[in-house]
Amino acid sequence: MVSSKKSVLVFGLDGASPSVINRWIEELPTFNRFKEEGILGLSIPPIPAQTPVAWTTCMTGKNPGKHGIFSFAQRETGSYRRYIANPSLVRSDTLCQILSEYKKRVGVLNVPMSGYEKINGFMIPGFLDKNEGIPQPRSMLEKLRTKFNLDSVPGNVEPEKLTKATTNPHVLLDRIFEITQVLSDVGLYLIENEVWDLFITVFMGTDRLGHFFWKYIDNAHPTYIFNEFSKRALAYYKMIDSVLSKFLKTIPKETFVVLLSDHGFCPVSREVYLNNYLQDHGYIESKNGKVSLENSRAVAYGYGDIWINVKGREPNGVIKKNGEYETVRNEIIQTLKAIKIEKEKPIQEVVKREEVYWGPYVSEASDLIAIFKPGWQSARRPEIINQKDPPYINTNPLWSGGHDGTHHPRCVPGILGFLDANLIKSRAPFEANLWDLAPTILKAMNIPIPKDMDGKALPIFK
Ligand SMILES: [Zn+2]
Repeated sequence: MVSSKKSVLVFGLDGASPSVINRWIEELPTFNRFKEEGILGLSIPPIPAQTPVAWTTCMTGKNPGKHGIFSFAQRETGSYRRYIANPSLVRSDTLCQILSEYKKRVGVLNVPMSGYEKINGFMIPGFLDKNEGIPQPRSMLEKLRTKFNLDSVPGNVEPEKLTKATTNPHVLLDRIFEITQVLSDVGLYLIENEVWDLFITVFMGTDRLGHFFWKYIDNAHPTYIFNEFSKRALAYYKMIDSVLSKFLKTIPKETFVVLLSDHGFCPVSREVYLNNYLQDHGYIESKNGKVSLENSRAVAYGYGDIWINVKGREPNGVIKKNGEYETVRNEIIQTLKAIKIEKEKPIQEVVKREEVYWGPYVSEASDLIAIFKPGWQSARRPEIINQKDPPYINTNPLWSGGHDGTHHPRCVPGILGFLDANLIKSRAPFEANLWDLAPTILKAMNIPIPKDMDGKALPIFK
């Protein structure tokens, strides 16, 4: 039995890919420990497999229909505007809040979409929070300032360095290594010097590496090249392996350890301008290549999310709610599934929102979601009708790796590993949904699992 005094370490990696880890496993001794002494398998992200949606799903134990985060670029209800997701929009309790209510001490370092909830413990908010990197409470800021001479803990590469990715990729890589070093030092210090029942941290470098360098990492990429960037990518995974090793040496022996990524990557070499197809079929109104969001019948936004312009719902809606809405959705599904480019069908399926989400916020999701095959992704800018040649595709996307295109969760799974003295060790293939993590951790700590969680506690303990 797991004792009620159980402490839990969650070592998170944004976008770390099982395909890469399995290929390099002989050079990653700490990852290999999970395989040899515990469990190492796959985590299945939600749709879409995007960082804000996936981490929120992980931390709430719920599908997006119950927490309200459907995209990196959410669309404002009753409007055509988009805005970037942030933690204040999460409409569910999180694992950290639930543990805090049970008087457990929680430490959070750089978890995407963290920062808004009030917790019993300390937090350095992560990606997408307005206070990203600023330690809370004030006493923690003072401590880290004294120890590391930092007012803010860097968790993610700054946008100006990201733009260097094509002109000088080494600048981006250097920064990824630097940030990882600082985060690792801060993480080790916190683990050693603070009291915590749950400590959770996320490293973002694996995601940035995946987007910009996938064609140097994944030998299944159609334009795979082995070069200096391939070597630095391996060096980065080795660095993460050694950080993980240091964390494992620092925690109490009886700690339950979860190793987790929110999604992995698939190759991307072409982007599809869905709105060019929707225009061909009479759904889009445009002028000089600019889409009119207000006057179109349906528009594909940046991630394969398709919004119908519905009367009474959108300010300038044209499609009637009942029969016509359903007819239009079915027509668009057929139109998009029939797209053929260079003898290939880039879209593997188109789903209606109620087929993949359930719960009180389903009506805030896009009406349809186009799911692309690996190799393809949706073009990001909904307001543009591509007028260049070829008209329907971009053959030179900025990123060579993707996960949010929207791709099927099973095409971009993350990793999931466990270490614990009471684990049922298994080398059989193992996988779980991301929403199973919160209930599994609650069960390990003998805390009741809220009934509205979608996830189930995984049967991994003796
Ligand atoms: Zn990403």
